[in-house]
Amino acid sequence: MRIVTFEEPHKQLSEDFGPGDAAIYIEAVHAAPADPPGSDTPTEMTICGKSTAGMTRLSYAPKSPGQPWCPPNKTQWMCTDCDEVLGST
Ligand SMILES: [Zn+2]
Repeated sequence: MRIVTFEEPHKQLSEDFGPGDAAIYIEAVHAAPADPPGSDTPTEMTICGKSTAGMTRLSYAPKSPGQPWCPPNKTQWMCTDCDEVLGST
């Protein structure tokens, strides 16, 4: 299954941002299947059932079966629901 990865931005409501704070706030990294399979076009829903609208599409994609679907530098935000489905493949 070809996977497209998305980054869900964190809705930061706190107002204690310091000036010049360039930290990136990520809520979660999700995966969406390509549709039709083999294309580069993801479905409008992630594997865990969230809308991809408002999410940022990531350029990362697993190059071959067996590679982690989540970018290695973003595993701390990896969606566990998506991973549960993809991890068993
Ligand atoms: Zn997810």
